[in-house]
Amino acid sequence: MRLDRLLAEAGFGTRSQVKKLIMKGHVTVNGEVVTVPKFQVDPEKDEVLVDGELVEYEKDYYLILNKPRGYVTSTKDREMTVMELLAGIPRPEKLFPVGRLDKDTEGLLLITNDGELAHRLTHPKWKVPKVYYVVVEGEVKEEELEPLRKGMEFKDFKAKPAKVRILSSGKDSSEVEIEITEGKYHQVKRMFSRIGHPVKYLKRVKFGNLELGELPVGEFRSLTPKELEELK
Ligand code: URA
Repeated sequence: MRLDRLLAEAGFGTRSQVKKLIMKGHVTVNGEVVTVPKFQVDPEKDEVLVDGELVEYEKDYYLILNKPRGYVTSTKDREMTVMELLAGIPRPEKLFPVGRLDKDTEGLLLITNDGELAHRLTHPKWKVPKVYYVVVEGEVKEEELEPLRKGMEFKDFKAKPAKVRILSSGKDSSEVEIEITEGKYHQVKRMFSRIGHPVKYLKRVKFGNLELGELPVGEFRSLTPKELEELK
């Protein structure tokens, strides 16, 4: 990106103010004074200083991680956190997960440093649909799903009607897909336990317009511009 844009975005003044700073020789790139505002820099790699002060460029990150089991959805913990999977991302401490998945849940987790978007997406008012692939104990029958489809009352919250469909049903276990709009603690597990089919495996496959697709477990990717535009 252009040097003047980098400085303006990093808060060193308006575009014309930072142009003057550059032309007057206040700015160095990798130790060399640069006086050309349109000089191209790589904010991730080049060291840019204004009068000796390091310019900290904050790029916006929007990542989808396929969370493996065994990782905690948290930025800091004594146990392994999802943030440890963000290899190659500079300053991962500036990022945080949007919402949470249980330690033993897999699947789609959005990770960003855009606090405003994160706040909006997790606010109940927006009712972001989340789809889970669930393996439960026992043979699920259509009529047993009625309470999930009607909405369920718990001590601490009332689950809104969910969309549920059986993918396969066997004697020992069944595969089900469920879409909910809330994200209460252990919600999906509690819903299936209530109908007598405890969850054996849980994976989030969709979050709003975002789909996990073929992303391998433990890996992440950036949102495409289209995904980001739809999400915002
Ligand atoms: N519901 C759960 O029970 N656990 C999750 O991780 C997500 C939804």
